[in-house]
Amino acid sequence: MSLDKTIRDRATQFGLDIATLVRQSIADEVMRLVGARSTPTTTAPKRATTAPTRKGRKLHLPPHCIAPNCKKPHRGLRFSLCCADHSSAPKSAKRKWLAAWHKQKASS
Ligand SMILES: [Zn+2]
Repeated sequence: MSLDKTIRDRATQFGLDIATLVRQSIADEVMRLVGARSTPTTTAPKRATTAPTRKGRKLHLPPHCIAPNCKKPHRGLRFSLCCADHSSAPKSAKRKWLAAWHKQKASS
């Protein structure tokens, strides 16, 4: 009886050892696969980082109203980058101011 029990215990222990070894080897395999996969995917973050820079270029706005000699903060693109005083100015004038700002930005 006791020998039978010992054999059963040994068998159980053997099974547990094998399970541990298999688990370990699977873990190693997974780690190897993950490690191998991570090498080609290093290009992906580079692509991802180019998107915000493009956005940053697009959203290059003047710090204040685009009207000449006006230092007031503008009210955003909705108001053609003009302050409260100049947002009622004619469209042609606003276009001129915007073109002037673009020129100044390009030269600086
Ligand atoms: Zn203004």
